[in-house]
Amino acid sequence: MQLVDQIKSDFQELFGNQPELIVKSPGRINIIGEHTDYNNGFVLPAAIDKGVYIGVSRRDDNHIELFSVDYKERYHTDIDSLTFGPELWTNYILGATRILRKTHSNIDGFNLIVAGDVPLGAGLSSSAALTCATSFALDKLFQLQLSRLDIAKTGQQTEHEAVGLRCGIMDQFASVFGKENNLLKLDCRSLEYEYIPIVLENYEILLLNTNVKHSLASSAYNQRREACEAAVALVQQKYPSVSSLRDISIAKLEEMVQPISAEYFQKSKFVVEENQRLLNATDALKSNDISKLGKLLYDAHWALSKEYEVSCPELDFLVSTASTLPEVAGARMMGGGFGGCTINMVEKGKSKTVIEKISSLYFDRFQLNLTPIQVSISDGTQVIL
Ligand code: ADP
Ligand code: MG
Repeated sequence: MQLVDQIKSDFQELFGNQPELIVKSPGRINIIGEHTDYNNGFVLPAAIDKGVYIGVSRRDDNHIELFSVDYKERYHTDIDSLTFGPELWTNYILGATRILRKTHSNIDGFNLIVAGDVPLGAGLSSSAALTCATSFALDKLFQLQLSRLDIAKTGQQTEHEAVGLRCGIMDQFASVFGKENNLLKLDCRSLEYEYIPIVLENYEILLLNTNVKHSLASSAYNQRREACEAAVALVQQKYPSVSSLRDISIAKLEEMVQPISAEYFQKSKFVVEENQRLLNATDALKSNDISKLGKLLYDAHWALSKEYEVSCPELDFLVSTASTLPEVAGARMMGGGFGGCTINMVEKGKSKTVIEKISSLYFDRFQLNLTPIQVSISDGTQVIL
């Protein structure tokens, strides 16, 4: 509740009153299924206890006043002349506002304070937490009657339009629809989903943050998406009913894509196989076969690294070191890649030992501190106050 108290006291100081409401939207983990969402495949995320909190109140003019507790920055604009710039935290808030206002002209001026405890750029999707918290707060403040799906889709559209990242729907969906102690198995084509209770019994989830985020992350992300779309276009020349990599077998890829582009073939083969790994991992989880799950995590990591080429030396080092430790059943990079966290399945009670063993090796190799992150699986977007 520290962040909530902080928002309340900053609100009082900056605006002279209390927020009308405070909402929270969480970050997320993803067990397996990376880069499958924008290919209409499956993902297996869960919302976490860490999130972005937003306090808001209406104004009686058309100004937007923003304050970020984490950046200690204030921002002021007129709601009719929203502007965007590279890598600004305000893009996420103003982007969601602009999109919602196209269909809800009753959105007017507001004061907003944001604070969060999702580490930024760590692959836990603080940005989805921020965009979903914004839409949810505006929904409640101006009674927009948005569905949870509207909120997730607005978050995704904000990344596309205001940030330039052509992301899939996983992060926003997990943030909005998360449920305590449950994974979400989401079909990104139909948007049907199933909650899978997470019962790891003798294991626990440990996240290890590399504390790096390489700058090519978002340009490479968009290039991967383009490669997948180009592969689909090649297959469609002979199989017009194919609409995404979800519908493609390796045989079809070999027949239509490989002769033209080895690059597109390699990238799309990864996606087809990652989808299958996810389905196998879901079976492993349901039968509580953690050693099978662990092996799938390692396979996923090395495919992300060698085939999809979205890893980095720091992530590869953490995963290869984890694979030498008997306490770790499996590990992989998590999120879009080029930095951020690894997710590790660790024997219950052994996280401390694993952290100690890996941290010093990591420091020796990169002169960087490793940050362990403990998370619990929690509910999605909610009103706090
Ligand atoms: P990720 O989503 O993996 O954490 P991104 O680069 O997509 O990484 O999003 C991080 C960006 O989101 C930050 O640079 C910042 O602009 C914005 N952001 C996230 N959380 C907050 C917050 N608590 N306050 C202000 N901005 C935030
Ligand atoms: Mg993000």
